[in-house]
Amino acid sequence: MDLKKIIALGLAGIFLLTGCAERREVAQQMLENKKMENRHEATTFAMDTVMSFIVIDEDGDELIIDAEQEIRRLENLLSITLENSEISKLNAAAGKEPVELSNDTMILLEAGKNLGAGTGGAFNIAISPIVKAWGFTEEEHHVPTREELDALLPLTDASDVVFIDASTAYLQKEGMAVDLGGITKGYASDKVASLLKGKGVESAIFSLGGNVYGIGTKPGGEKWEVALANPLDANDYCGLISVEDCAVVTSGGYQRFFEENGKKYHHIIDPVTGYPAESGLLSVTIICESGTEADVLSTALFVMGLEDALEYWQKYGGFEAIFITEAGEVVATEGADACFVFEGSGNDFTYRVVESE
Ligand code: AMP
Ligand code: MG
Repeated sequence: MDLKKIIALGLAGIFLLTGCAERREVAQQMLENKKMENRHEATTFAMDTVMSFIVIDEDGDELIIDAEQEIRRLENLLSITLENSEISKLNAAAGKEPVELSNDTMILLEAGKNLGAGTGGAFNIAISPIVKAWGFTEEEHHVPTREELDALLPLTDASDVVFIDASTAYLQKEGMAVDLGGITKGYASDKVASLLKGKGVESAIFSLGGNVYGIGTKPGGEKWEVALANPLDANDYCGLISVEDCAVVTSGGYQRFFEENGKKYHHIIDPVTGYPAESGLLSVTIICESGTEADVLSTALFVMGLEDALEYWQKYGGFEAIFITEAGEVVATEGADACFVFEGSGNDFTYRVVESE
């Protein structure tokens, strides 16, 4: 269960009109009040996590229902635990036969495979046998033996996920399986954003288990604010990120883990070792226009560790990032710093900005 703390602050705003307020200001305030009346909120549970929505639109309630339906439609296609999902069928047919898939499943498999290759395999859609061995898939956690992991690692080569044609995929080895848990919520956030925008929504923010997407701005024109969770304290945050028409996605070992013999084991696997990534990072937050890319990158850069992640950012760009390290540092890329207010002084974090070269 996600512990991500997302706060969309200040929506109500405080209007301080002076005695000599001009008509235009009054009109503006009336317009803003009207928009506030159109504020619709809801929280639901889907994709194994908590999802919350704020939509500013007179049809907000119906639009949130549309969004939820879209999320459940995707969950029914992409879930690894629902027996009849397309992903479950693809996994069950591994090494046996190709499987015909719907457009969304194909898009996500291809995006996951290609983006994953771009991260040098740090993000790996074929990681499922290892995730399962640690018990994260069925929530029956235990530490697997080294032998068990070594036997499974050859089954996690993403290049063995092949596309026969535009609507057919095949897992080439028996025992292989794909796990889209590291990308599905980001993809769903893109789909929900385009659904809402397509219906004329100009102001909304929603969080699909911590995969946040902000559409437009708050009714007053200020940017939406997303709290950067303190990975060491679920009731605290390390600062606020301002967003407008973009995604903010965090991956962190603190979000899903279990303890055995006093040691913590989290859910983000280093595909090289088969062990939970020990990269010196507590969390990685990606800010970028595409929720799908942000989701892939947050997982991948967590696996890479700070040094390789910054190198990746310098080389490819196209996103901004905030890292929180085990050493207590909050490190922001230049563009992330521009939309982030650090508030870590009360919790012993220090702050550093990395410029692009
Ligand atoms: P996220 O919360 O987006 O970082 O995704 C973590 C989830 O993605 C895990 O619960 C697994 O289902 C899956 N996963 C774990 N390690 C990896 C990896 N290295 N590459 C791709 N998916 C992974
Ligand atoms: Mg992810």
